[in-house]
Amino acid sequence: MAPPSLPQTPTLASAHTGIPERLLHKATYAKSLIYDGKTVPDTYSLERGLPIPQGISKKAFLSAIEELKSAIGNENVQLNEKEVKNGWYMEHPNTHDMMPLLDAEEFIASAVVYPGSVAEVQLIVRWANQHLIPLFPISIGRNLGYGGAAPRVRGSVTMDLGRRMNKILDINAENYTCLVEPGVTYYALHEELVRRGLQDKMWIDCPDLGGGSVIGNALDRGVGYTPYGDHWGMHSGLEVVLPTGELVRTGMGALEGANTWQCFPYGFGPYNDGIFSQSNFGIVTKMGMTLMPNPGGYESFMYTFQHDSDLGPLMDIIRPLRISNILENVAQVRHGLQTLSVKGHPRTKYWSGKGPMPESVYREHLKETATGDCAWVYYGMAYGPPHIRAHKLAIIDSEFHRIAGCKKIDPATMPKDEYFWSRDRIASGTPDLEELKWVNWMPNGAHIAFSPVSPISGKDAEALYTMAKRRHTEQGFDLMPAFCVGLREMHLIVEIVYDAQDGDMRRRAERCLRDMIDDAAALGYGEYRTHLALMDQVAATYNFNDGALMKLNNTLKDALDPNGILAPGRCGIWPARYRGRGWELTTKDTGRSSEGDGVAKKAGEVKI
Ligand code: ADP
Repeated sequence: MAPPSLPQTPTLASAHTGIPERLLHKATYAKSLIYDGKTVPDTYSLERGLPIPQGISKKAFLSAIEELKSAIGNENVQLNEKEVKNGWYMEHPNTHDMMPLLDAEEFIASAVVYPGSVAEVQLIVRWANQHLIPLFPISIGRNLGYGGAAPRVRGSVTMDLGRRMNKILDINAENYTCLVEPGVTYYALHEELVRRGLQDKMWIDCPDLGGGSVIGNALDRGVGYTPYGDHWGMHSGLEVVLPTGELVRTGMGALEGANTWQCFPYGFGPYNDGIFSQSNFGIVTKMGMTLMPNPGGYESFMYTFQHDSDLGPLMDIIRPLRISNILENVAQVRHGLQTLSVKGHPRTKYWSGKGPMPESVYREHLKETATGDCAWVYYGMAYGPPHIRAHKLAIIDSEFHRIAGCKKIDPATMPKDEYFWSRDRIASGTPDLEELKWVNWMPNGAHIAFSPVSPISGKDAEALYTMAKRRHTEQGFDLMPAFCVGLREMHLIVEIVYDAQDGDMRRRAERCLRDMIDDAAALGYGEYRTHLALMDQVAATYNFNDGALMKLNNTLKDALDPNGILAPGRCGIWPARYRGRGWELTTKDTGRSSEGDGVAKKAGEVKI
């Protein structure tokens, strides 16, 4: 399906969402693989027409849009009327999820608005309150696997902050901090450090792919792979427009003229930052982030383990090493099948049977790769000058070798394009573009993550792995788990890769995800982050004391956003105007429409 010559991916020189020049060749190759796998045209017409949000007539909506255009300029407001385009990671849509789990026209915007300043963000928020139109803020909108740029409520107006608010406002080379606007990507921040000659002095921490925004990723509590991998934990200071339009700065930013906004996150009084992450309580217009000093050397290492059953003993070996910082970074323990799929080929290259690929098949193919035949791969990094690294690496080596059949793969034996080197770049502060290759496993490849958190323990890893395997087998999916090991917990990331054009497969993926969420909760595990379609279900699993946490969230929501205009339903938090009208998507709702039955006309008419 790939056209003979695909247009070149925009670079950072021409678009804030662009690829650094140094990665253009990778983008060109990745794009060709993605387009080879597309079986349908990239652009399609909206069968259901302009998605007007519930609670407003088409006429009133269009007149409100005209009003907004005259306030901030025609070119900064776009209706989403006729056609939408899916694109790919580097040229993604800002109107919908290009990897839909439900029908493609469920989580979709009616319009996109591009504020150019904090004052315009405030103006748009006041406009939304006046007309009771739901707004959905995005920074870049590449939150793929969790809903991308899509709003939870059909017909919301997407506020794309990144397009016109994408400045790096400060890089402080003495304090190792920066202050950024929403449209600054990891690619852009890294390139700027290089441009200023600071890369030898300080590093950013980036996720597997560098195209997301520093703000959006931290707000959704994403992780990276240096010792600074907890992005939310590493931020310092927010500037936020509240849902009623007031502007606040948190931490030391509340003190006019303070030079400590990016140095001390707490300020004085309650630490409010937390309510703005994974929520719908405010629009973040600036964020401070800490940067990691270059540790003076680094060395990636990779170990393979032979048996599925090595997982438990390995985790029990990892825990004390990680907590005591001998294992220093957010490392990954990946399943062998994922190291095969990240080569970027469709699964049919290896096997064309139905249901999960048999172990004997993928292990045979793994023999031809740099990892060799294995069940698990550990990717890690040691930091510091050689003698410091040698000390830690020797401990790790002897501990890992307590598992029979453990092999250390010598980096010198690995070709330059081996995935190992991508992990090496990422764990040393250089964003890359390799990770998305496993999306090509399926035609029209889409992915959604199941991401439960557990302690770093063999018992927990085995319980989650066994449960995920059973549910994947039931629904006929290949299981490709990766454990990302934090300091005292690990996130299991299971990406289900499916064909977005195959309705049956989408429903099976949803069923599989919903079953895993329920199973995990029954075992005592909760997700750290989830897709739009699953937020209500996940939120409902956090139900101590008759759902006291959601009652608190609802109280905050009603106080901060009385008209319920900001990202209704995000993270399962529904404003009063929507509550009790069937908007929640819960465990039994596979394949259901995302909408409820109307909204209350005004906040004042709602019994709170
Ligand atoms: P990325 O920048 O990594 O592509 P997104 O822009 O998709 O991430 O944002 C991830 C999630 O965080 C979105 O679903 C959105 O609701 C929320 N978000 C992103 N940016 C902001 C912001 N500036 N203010 C409030 N919420 C935001």
